Amino acid sequence: MVKCEFTDESEENTVPKPVLAIVGRPNVGKSTIFNRIVGERIAIVEDKPGVTRDRIYSSGEWLQHEFYIIDTGGIEIGDEPLLEQMRYQAELAIEEADVICFAVNGREGLTAADEEVVQILHRSKKPVVVAVNKMDDPSMHEKLYEFYSLGIGDVFPVSGSHGLGLGDLLDQVASYFPADEEDPYDEDTIRMSLIGRPNVGKSSLVNAILGEERVIVSDIPGTTRDAIDTPFTKDDQDYVVIDTAGMRKRGKVYESTEKYSVLRALKAIERSDVVLAVINAEEGIIEQDKKIAGYAHEAGRAIVIVVNKWDAVEKDDKTMKEFEEKIRDEFQYLDYAPVIFLSAKTKRRIQHLLPAVKEVSESHNMRVKTHVLNDVIVDAVTMNPTPTDHGGRRLRINYATQVSVGPPTFVLFVNDPDLLHFSYRRYLENKIRAAFGFAGTPIHIIARKKS
Ligand code: GDP
Ligand code: GDP
Repeated sequence: MVKCEFTDESEENTVPKPVLAIVGRPNVGKSTIFNRIVGERIAIVEDKPGVTRDRIYSSGEWLQHEFYIIDTGGIEIGDEPLLEQMRYQAELAIEEADVICFAVNGREGLTAADEEVVQILHRSKKPVVVAVNKMDDPSMHEKLYEFYSLGIGDVFPVSGSHGLGLGDLLDQVASYFPADEEDPYDEDTIRMSLIGRPNVGKSSLVNAILGEERVIVSDIPGTTRDAIDTPFTKDDQDYVVIDTAGMRKRGKVYESTEKYSVLRALKAIERSDVVLAVINAEEGIIEQDKKIAGYAHEAGRAIVIVVNKWDAVEKDDKTMKEFEEKIRDEFQYLDYAPVIFLSAKTKRRIQHLLPAVKEVSESHNMRVKTHVLNDVIVDAVTMNPTPTDHGGRRLRINYATQVSVGPPTFVLFVNDPDLLHFSYRRYLENKIRAAFGFAGTPIHIIARKKS
């Protein structure tokens, strides 16, 4: 089964979840703690190139709280010296997080580098919890005392590698989370974000969209905590561009680091219905483009691939077709996403963008009738019988139903979910797409044992 951490059977929620960031020196155990907290929820994604997750950002859950967690230690800023790195990481945590977990090595005690971070955290108004790590057994707790004197936050003895003390720590973290925010937008509003490497033209595109004829930009930007959104209306459809603030905020050293832009992109993706994956036609497709688009796919968002700067490419009548073939080849897992060639600069073909956004959003929210779905599945099985395992046991599909939208998610009730392998799942997905369309949206198929 293709598991995806963003997917459950409830309707998607685009209100931002609170963010916990872990900071601390190298080797104190940040990533060990991160992995513990994230636990089983680390995305197990399709085993295909281009769809991998950097383990610096994931979601966690504690009691009733869902939150995002960032391991700032995974965000290296060029080849700056250690102290500089830590300073940036701490600043980044302060900027991005609602709560900061400062991790230290209890066995080593406080070091000069720890003190450096403490100074920065002192100046921030964000709540801090101190995780005194490597306290593998209670006899070590006397080591805690020197950390109490820091005066930056509550001190918790933990052991990342043994999973000790994290419950108390998370209780405290959760108590600092802001109260749930109301979703600021109407259900019918299409939330879109533009993702892509620096300089592909995301800001220019936003401006070009907002500058289009008959686009009415709302006077009051919608704000949710740290994101600044731009709501607008075109042809009676409400849209909001999510998190352009992140794109405007320039000049910081970490803005140009790859993992930071990935983090920014992820935050925007979480809150979007439709993601525009922007590519620079001049430069072609590089690995980072694939990675970023892969996140949107994993997150189950509707996707439009936008090839910008098409004005800057020398073309003949075959260029577009060739470029699209290249995209299809490089982004195989996005075979459902429409590709639009345009220029934010000359505005050529820009008028095709919002209609495409609307179309993929409709697919993302489309429901199909159960009996029609079952007819499609029965026909599919008749044409290409279900597989058997080595022991000759055959997959039997009793019944199929669509359980949710955003993305469309189908549950197949079967004799044994393990018998549904990738290739047959793919076959069924193609049959469902052939019957119903679902252009621009991933669809999820879950096999469940018939009870
Ligand atoms: P990071 O650089 O801060 O992310 O640190 P890591 O999570 O990579 O951990 C650094 C080292 O400390 C690794 O060898 C871990 O196995 C070890 N470590 C992490 N947590 C604990 C712990 O609670 N107890 C002990 N004894 N070792 C730990
Ligand atoms: P962002 O970092 O992705 O937001 O990219 P920007 O919107 O800041 O654009 C980066 C650069 O590309 C700027 O110099 C833009 O003027 C230029 N640019 C953006 N769109 C186009 C386009 O369609 N054609 C050309 N030739 N240049 C563009």
